[in-house]
Amino acid sequence: MADYLFYTYFEDGNEYFVYKDLRFERSHTKEKDFPFLESLLRFTYLDIWPMEDLFKKMDRALLDFYREHDFDSQRAVMSTLEELAKKHIYFEFLRLDWQARFRLVDRYPDEDTHRILPHKQLRHIPSDLDTLQKQIMRLFQDVLDIDDGKKKPVQEKLQAYLDKEKRESLYAYQFKPISTAYERTRQGTFAEVLHPTSLSDLVEFSLRECVKREQRMRICSYCGKYFAIPRRNTAEFCNLTVDENGHTCREVGAVKRWAEKKNSDELFKEYRREYKKRFNWIKAGKISPGAFYAWSATAKGKRDECAEGKMSFAEFRKWLSES
Ligand SMILES: [Zn+2]
Repeated sequence: MADYLFYTYFEDGNEYFVYKDLRFERSHTKEKDFPFLESLLRFTYLDIWPMEDLFKKMDRALLDFYREHDFDSQRAVMSTLEELAKKHIYFEFLRLDWQARFRLVDRYPDEDTHRILPHKQLRHIPSDLDTLQKQIMRLFQDVLDIDDGKKKPVQEKLQAYLDKEKRESLYAYQFKPISTAYERTRQGTFAEVLHPTSLSDLVEFSLRECVKREQRMRICSYCGKYFAIPRRNTAEFCNLTVDENGHTCREVGAVKRWAEKKNSDELFKEYRREYKKRFNWIKAGKISPGAFYAWSATAKGKRDECAEGKMSFAEFRKWLSES
């Protein structure tokens, strides 16, 4: 059935996706690489509900296609899949797979079209993905989060995660069999390679690797999403989420931290200067020790409020000048 190539593997710190339409001799083999786990993480955080109409549209077009076998309905499905393929690499697989299915129907028009082009498979993607995303998120939280404060081994946490399924159905991701090949990669070394037959194969392959490696996960202090952190790395911000100016959390976060530090340095400097000035007033007899200590206790409280962001630096300075 496959008149296309699509496979993926992990090598060093990266994941590779190689694909090609074999029906066109001149089509180039495309290769995309991402840092390890990036595609799974993007899939986990993919906002699928705004895309639901696209899936409904494909469903309707397929039902028309069952009746008419017309080119317009086929085009409606394929152009939507092309649009989706731009949003995530896993959907590139979906596009190639469905293209091959349509070609098969063209070649064997007497075959069972419903079976070759199962419309429900597309129609159910948003709700299936929604369930899957929640299960993956719980796996990160319960098993791989290094900040969870639990010292238990990953294997033990994994068992506890899987056991929760007994009390709450659809809680845990259920590992499934997939078939991989041990092959020479484009980098010239051998690796376990997946030639997926479904979207869920791709998820399984990544998720399994992530648990096998006991990949440490952390919530980014900037965007609040999970990201994978390499061993002996203390990264606090992810490199995945990009803001409207094209800066990643790591870039924006570093600047923010620096600005916070600079502000807090200024704040403490200001407080110390004022403290010394007023302390000297005691010797000069301008203020009583009691009044000074009362002031300093209040000032310290205000300083800490400001450091916690409950009060602006400008307000703190205003308070100092008026107290
Ligand atoms: Zn982030």
